[in-house]
Amino acid sequence: MSEKNTQGCSGNCSSCSSNCKGKDPQSLIEPTGEYNNIKHVIGIVSGKGGVGKSMVTSMLAVALSKKGYKVGILDADITGPSIPKTFGLNGHVLQNEIGILPAETKNGIKIMSINLLLPDKESPVVWRGPVIAGAVKQFWHDVVWGDLDYLLIDCPPGTGDVPLTVFQSIPLDGAVIVTSPQDLVSMIVKKAYNMAKMMDIPVLGIVENMSYVVCPDCGKEFTIFGSGSETVAEELGVKLLGKMPIDVSLTQMVDNGSFELIETNYLDKAVEEIINN
Ligand code: ADP
Repeated sequence: MSEKNTQGCSGNCSSCSSNCKGKDPQSLIEPTGEYNNIKHVIGIVSGKGGVGKSMVTSMLAVALSKKGYKVGILDADITGPSIPKTFGLNGHVLQNEIGILPAETKNGIKIMSINLLLPDKESPVVWRGPVIAGAVKQFWHDVVWGDLDYLLIDCPPGTGDVPLTVFQSIPLDGAVIVTSPQDLVSMIVKKAYNMAKMMDIPVLGIVENMSYVVCPDCGKEFTIFGSGSETVAEELGVKLLGKMPIDVSLTQMVDNGSFELIETNYLDKAVEEIINN
């Protein structure tokens, strides 16, 4: 854990005696709301969109929740929010005098996403970078998360303005990088890794998604896109936290509203790494 991301850091340096980098006058870390007690904040990041970052975030949240932890998901992927759909949440969040109340899944995972605020879920969010970044900061500060063991941040993809804001303003304890096999070849995963390193955020490891498909008839595994995650993990000196196949049962569970009943062991190592970090 880096000095900046001290366990239990609320980002509120005024009430903390720790001699950490958060006290650096140049630190852009923002405090969370006064009603929040968030023990660990983990960013789920990717070099580009469509690799399954939200899927992995949702699966990690379900796994942590099943272990008895109090879990929240901050959907910082403002222009491509998919977390509410995964958990079958269609309503709108409410607000009271202390802040915005997050939505809750059937098993009590707290969720905040721009799609829980928009009047029409299909409306595109046509906002400039600083406005999007402002919304993410509001989700961190103005949402009444309460007591959480883990807040997972579904980070916007890439290395632009908004991921930069997330990394700079929210005290992340660690990042999990999600990639698909093709990205490993094209160095995109290294960009995500280097950005986290530049921001002093410990990289917990890499999850390779869409690694293979299993033939429903013979059970044989096919690595359609090839695989290089072992090599890249070794080159970067980080752990390979799992390989997840293209699994239609995952999307079926989203479609029939039973995602929280998911029983897979694809991400066991990643969950262990988050808990032991
Ligand atoms: P990202 O957050 O990186 O943009 P998503 O998590 O939204 O990507 O995934 C893109 C699409 O692929 C979604 O429809 C999602 O349900 C699907 N998907 C992701 N991972 C898998 C997987 N391992 N098996 C089957 N479908 C997947």
